[in-house]
Amino acid sequence: MEDPEHPQQTITAIDNLIFFSNFDSGNLSKATKTSSNTYELEISPDASSKGFSSYRTWFFFGIRGLKKGTYLRLCIINLSYLRPWSSPTYKPVWRCVPSHSEWQRIVTETIFEPIGNGYNKFTWTFEAVANDNDHFFAFAPPYPYCDVMKSISIFEKMCPGDSTFHRESLIRSLDGRDIELITISNKSNFSTEREDRIHGLFPSSGSRCFKAQKPIIFISARVHPGETPASYLLDGILQVLLSPDTRGTSLRSNFVFKIIPILNPDGVYRGNFRVDQNGINLNRCYIEPSIMEHPTIYAAKWYFSYLHNVKFYLDLHAHMSKRSCFLFGNYLPLEKQPDNQVYAKLIEINTPYFEFSECDFSEKSMSAKDPKDHHSKEGSGRVAFYQNFGIIHTYTIECSYYMLRPLHNIPPTINMKTGRKFTESIVYNSSGLISVHNRAFFNDLAVGVLMAILDVEQCNSNSRLPLSEFRTLESMKEYIRARAMIQNRILSKNFSRGEVKRPDKTTADKPTTLPKVPLRKIHKLNVVSPIFNSVPQTLHHKAKVVIGPRGKSLIRE
Ligand SMILES: [Zn+2]
Repeated sequence: MEDPEHPQQTITAIDNLIFFSNFDSGNLSKATKTSSNTYELEISPDASSKGFSSYRTWFFFGIRGLKKGTYLRLCIINLSYLRPWSSPTYKPVWRCVPSHSEWQRIVTETIFEPIGNGYNKFTWTFEAVANDNDHFFAFAPPYPYCDVMKSISIFEKMCPGDSTFHRESLIRSLDGRDIELITISNKSNFSTEREDRIHGLFPSSGSRCFKAQKPIIFISARVHPGETPASYLLDGILQVLLSPDTRGTSLRSNFVFKIIPILNPDGVYRGNFRVDQNGINLNRCYIEPSIMEHPTIYAAKWYFSYLHNVKFYLDLHAHMSKRSCFLFGNYLPLEKQPDNQVYAKLIEINTPYFEFSECDFSEKSMSAKDPKDHHSKEGSGRVAFYQNFGIIHTYTIECSYYMLRPLHNIPPTINMKTGRKFTESIVYNSSGLISVHNRAFFNDLAVGVLMAILDVEQCNSNSRLPLSEFRTLESMKEYIRARAMIQNRILSKNFSRGEVKRPDKTTADKPTTLPKVPLRKIHKLNVVSPIFNSVPQTLHHKAKVVIGPRGKSLIRE
C-alpha cells in the first residue's frame, strides 16, 4: 500500500520487469507499458504529499529483470519545462548494479516535446547491458542522503594525524535526520575550551568541538536537494582539505573549516529538486528561520552567528543555465567591490571550468523574486549572512552539472619561495565514494575554490597568481576596480541619455541591473558552450524547431 507521506516510493510490476523507486532520492510514481518495448513513466513532483506540483524535474528510478540486449524506450510524460531538456546534448545518466556501477551519461539521442497543460515529455532509448542486474536512471548523478553520510565516514578516516575531523549533529531535520556539522583543521591554534551547547541545537550528548582561534571558512551544501553536483564538489573540497600535500597542510594550518554537507536531507530523501517536504525553498528562509518549520536553516544561522571570525561563507549549488561554473556574490559599495570580486577572479585563474565573466554581483540578484513562490533572494544564505553579519566573502557557488572540456588555460603554479614551477599533483582517493564519470571535473573545481581562498589571504605557497597576467593581488584588484568604474560610468551615461530609467518612487524597489561591459579576456581558448552548443552534426541536420512553453524555441528531432 502506498505510504501517503512518501508517494515517490513505488514498486510497479509489468510483465517480467519491476520498476521501482523505493529508495533514498528515488521518485517514480507510475509506470505503464504502451507498446512492446515502450514505457510511459510519471515522476512524483516535489512535496507532492502536501499537494504541491510545481517542480517536476528530478527523476531517479530502477528497473529490475532486464535481459542483456533488451531494447527499451522510456518516456517521462509529466516533466516541467527546463531549458536544457530542449537541447539534444542534455543526457540523463544511468548505471547498472553491480556490473556497471559508474554513473554515466546515456549515449543515445533524446527527444523533448511539450504535450500541453504545462507538461512535457522526455524520451530516450536504452539497451540493457547485463542480465538481471538493477538498471538505474536519473536526471543527474544522484547523491542520496545515506551516501552523503557514508562519504563523511570515509573522509573521516583520511584525516592526517596532525589534524582534527570533528563530527557532531547540529540539529535534527523535521523527519529526524541528523544535520552533520564537521570541523576540520590542524590541531594548532585551538583553545582547550569547548564550544558552548547552544539552546535547541546539538541534540546528541557527544562532546562539542574546541573553540577555534583561526579564521573560519563556513561551507554548506544541498539546500536544494536535486543539485547533486554540490555534493560531488564537496567531495573534492574534502579530498583537498585532507590531503597531506602542501595545499592541504596550508589550508588546515591557516583556517578552521566548518562544513554542513546537507541542509535539506528530507528533500534529498524524497527525491525533491528544489524544496523541502512542505514545498518550502529553504534558501529563502534565512532572514527569520523558524526552529519548528525550518530547523536546519535555523541551526545553520544561529551557529553562524555564534562563531566569530568567519572569513568566507560558501554555499554550494548547481545550475544548468550558464556555460561554466560561476558564483553569485553581493552588491557592495564600489570601494569594497575589489575585495569582494577578487575571490571570483582568483577562482578563474585556478581552474579552467570557472568564469569570472559569468559571475553575478548585481544589486538585482540580491532581491530578485523566485518566479514560482515569489520569495526574494534576500532570504538566501548569501544575502542574509552579508546583511546580518557584514561578511564580505559570502558566495553561492554554482557548479555545472556537466562540462565537456575546460574553457580556458590557467597559468602554471609557482613555488613562492624557490621561484620554481610547482608540479606536484594531489593524490585523490575515491575508493568507497559513489562512482561517477566526471569526478575529475568536480575535483578540479574544488582545487580552484580552495586555492583562491589562499590567494585572497596571501598565504598560498604555491600560487598561480605570479604567472598570471596580473602578477599580484593588488593589480588584480586594480583591474576589478577599473571594471566596476567603467560599469558605473556606462550606467550614469545611460541615465543621462534616458536609456536607463532612474529609480523613482514607483521603481525604487526594482534595482537597475548593471550593463555588460566588454571584459579584458584572459586565456580564452577553446570557447564552447558545454551543454548547449555541442550538438552533434547529425542532430543539426535532423533537428526541427517547434515552439515550446513561453514562446521559446525547442529543438527536437
Ligand atoms: Zn540552488
